[in-house]
Amino acid sequence: MSDLSPSTYKYAERVRQGLKAPLPHGKSKYSNEGCKCVVCRADWTEYNRKRRYERRDALLLDPTLAEHGTRSTYLNWMCRCRPCKNAQAAYGRARRRELRQTKGRQNG
Ligand SMILES: [Zn+2]
Ligand SMILES: [Zn+2]
Repeated sequence: MSDLSPSTYKYAERVRQGLKAPLPHGKSKYSNEGCKCVVCRADWTEYNRKRRYERRDALLLDPTLAEHGTRSTYLNWMCRCRPCKNAQAAYGRARRRELRQTKGRQNG
């Protein structure tokens, strides 16, 4: 058993065959090459964070860009209007209820 994910393995394989130059990590190799190393993951997180802030700014200028009252708008657009906050709160409540029920069903 290998602890490498298939996509990381595929990339490593291509590097070994000389098809792919072993470029420095980061710069969204996470999405381009499926590399899941710490550097690429951090770069990808940073990239997404930036994109979210850009989207939030765009949404502030034009609130019609996204559908409101949904959890995805709350998360992906960082919208904090009341309908979106309500959607997030409702999800949290449902999730907690689900967890309680799952716990209740388990026997020891
Ligand atoms: Zn990497
Ligand atoms: Zn909203």
